[in-house]
Amino acid sequence: MISVFDRPREVSELQNEVFDLIVIGGGATGAGILLDAASRGMKTLLLEQEDFAWGTSSRSTKLIHGGLRYLKQLEISLVREVGKERAILHANAPHLVHPEELLLPLIESGSLGKYTTPVGLWMYEKLAGVPKEERFKTLSREEARKAEPLLNSAILQGAAIYREYRTDDARLVTSLLKTAARLGGQSLNYASVEGFLYDDAGAVCGVKVQDRIGRKAVTFKSHAVVNAAGPWCDEVRRLDSPVKGKHLQLTKGVHLVFSRERFPLKRSVYFDVPDDGRMVFAIKRGNTTYLGTTDTLYDQAIGHPRTLAADVVYLLNAANRMFPTLQLELKDVQSSWAGLRPLIHEEGKGPSELSRKDEVFQTDSGLISIAGGKLTGYRIMAERIVDMVMIRRTAQGAGPYRESKTENLPLAGGDFENYTAVARFKQRLFGESRQVEASTTEIDHLVNCYGTEATAVLERAYALHPEEMEPRWRMLRAELDYCLSVEGVCTLSDFLIRRTGRLYFDRDSLEPFYPAAAQYMAEKMNWTRERMQAQLAEFEQAYFEALSFPEQK
Ligand SMILES: Cc1cc2nc3c(=O)[nH]c(=O)nc-3n(C[C@H](O)[C@H](O)[C@H](O)COP(=O)(O)OP(=O)(O)OC[C@H]3O[C@@H](n4cnc5c(N)ncnc54)[C@H](O)[C@@H]3O)c2cc1C
Repeated sequence: MISVFDRPREVSELQNEVFDLIVIGGGATGAGILLDAASRGMKTLLLEQEDFAWGTSSRSTKLIHGGLRYLKQLEISLVREVGKERAILHANAPHLVHPEELLLPLIESGSLGKYTTPVGLWMYEKLAGVPKEERFKTLSREEARKAEPLLNSAILQGAAIYREYRTDDARLVTSLLKTAARLGGQSLNYASVEGFLYDDAGAVCGVKVQDRIGRKAVTFKSHAVVNAAGPWCDEVRRLDSPVKGKHLQLTKGVHLVFSRERFPLKRSVYFDVPDDGRMVFAIKRGNTTYLGTTDTLYDQAIGHPRTLAADVVYLLNAANRMFPTLQLELKDVQSSWAGLRPLIHEEGKGPSELSRKDEVFQTDSGLISIAGGKLTGYRIMAERIVDMVMIRRTAQGAGPYRESKTENLPLAGGDFENYTAVARFKQRLFGESRQVEASTTEIDHLVNCYGTEATAVLERAYALHPEEMEPRWRMLRAELDYCLSVEGVCTLSDFLIRRTGRLYFDRDSLEPFYPAAAQYMAEKMNWTRERMQAQLAEFEQAYFEALSFPEQK
């Protein structure tokens, strides 16, 4: 990941290279492709028009899951594939992909039957190859009430508990990019692809790019180009040739965040919304519980989906029906986000019926585009795409075929022996960090974000003079320093939204610190006063929108 401080030199050096592969789009799909290609020794560059993970990959439900509900739609191969991926991703990044037991309440007139649910779960786990000790359990009505006392006992008939994994999508993308960088894979944010370069035979051989930080047009050359632009996939395809046949259908999903005090779940729950047969997650995360998602067709500006008042009403009603003693209200919402699913259009199908499978398109010019799929499936999708590129290269005599190495490749910060080692590491850091007065919550945050690299953040905190700084600001400053030099942070929002997730999960505590963070960034990067004000305004807009819900966009 190119640091903002080295950017001018690096951008001009990149222009002199001829890459094996250029990847358009810095979400999970693009970052996965970059890492896969780098793991095979290919010289690869990824370009992202905004910040890394700025698109859908910072706005998902943040679960690494096999998609239990896709079984009902008979998406057997999808469930088998992503189900198996869960254990691989957990093993490669145990600090970032945490086991999460989900409780499935069985309710009167719900979509989960008392007898069909165990059969469905059995099949789900069989397809995913779940080991015996991790398999689901069924609970009687009484056991279910004990397991989660907030459940509506008037309609509860029993429950099942099964295992999925919880992650942070934007941190996963960052970790993929950092891992790729160690293998030579380069990535540049704020680099918008606006056209293609073609050779004499009409084959794509590079991209025309607007460098949005350097404010100039540049070109990068390569033997192959992959379009992994998520919801923008068709727009990028159109830069090359008209989109014929299959195309995208976007659907919007929103999430609401509550404090754990106000929504004190004992365990995460995946529950029915009887009105429309959909299902909603209520997930515990640190001091918060988040609730989502909705699924509605979307045909407006791709870059700026908003949580509307109707979305909030839908989710509050769903939660209040399943957890009636809570009586959640609008004023309890602490933050929110909205994201777009890049799905493939299917005539006559509703939003929740559209397949979540990925689709690959190739044009005569050689551009490969990938859309659809799940965050959970990023690694296997990437392997398939890079296989295609490798086969083409080998046929052109450009070197031997090399296999992907990502199945057993720990992600940056993920070099732990196992999951228990993560907890031990947190304890050790907490003991060692007394001098900077880091709280257990802060250590938890650092290790969940940076894994073993949390030590590099703490070292920066130790180097700051304790007497001059309020402890919380000292930790945040150290983290900001780290992200500026190692994680490609260019703007205040990059840091507070995508690298640290603070806008979503710690919004209330940001008030005293974000102006100081902007001031510090301005000093480090020689921003003019106007540039700093623009940065503050951009972040404040996002800060405001996380808690404002228009009737219509
Ligand atoms: C509400 C919701 C909940 C979800 N929950 C889950 C879940 O819990 N688990 C799961 O597995 N999946 C989930 N998904 C699906 C998952 O989030 C997506 O499949 C995945 O994030 C898509 O990643 P992507 O890289 O393809 O797209 P994106 O993350 O959108 O990345 C594409 C990137 O391309 C960039 N780009 C576009 N045009 C250009 C250009 N011209 N030049 C350069 N860059 C460009 C964009 O800025 C963007 O950052 C969810 C999706 C939604 C919307």
